[in-house]
Amino acid sequence: MRCAASAAVDMIDADGCRAFLVRRLHPGGGRCPHCGVSLDGRQAESFAAGGRIRCNSCKRWSTWRTGTLFHRAALDERQLFLLLMLTSLHCSIDDISAVCRLSPDDAYHWQHRISEACH
Ligand SMILES: [Zn+2]
Repeated sequence: MRCAASAAVDMIDADGCRAFLVRRLHPGGGRCPHCGVSLDGRQAESFAAGGRIRCNSCKRWSTWRTGTLFHRAALDERQLFLLLMLTSLHCSIDDISAVCRLSPDDAYHWQHRISEACH
């Protein structure tokens, strides 16, 4: 069954997963993670679409992941979405590892990081 569960990553929509994550991590809309200025227009659209933006105020580069729990995570949006879902459901490390296609050590690491961030 776990082999079948590992297909979940391929079955879900990356854009939908990213949209969910962006809304959860940036509930007030996109802001520059460096100076806090609100993003608007094309920058807000690019930020929400996963693009890299350069702040008009501080001139620094960022994405929706910058300054969040998922900054520099080598996982795609689908894996991150599934990680959040499975961690919130208190699934086992073995299940998270299988579904998210992570090593058991990485699944353990992420489960703890997410649990700590959510408390
Ligand atoms: Zn800025």
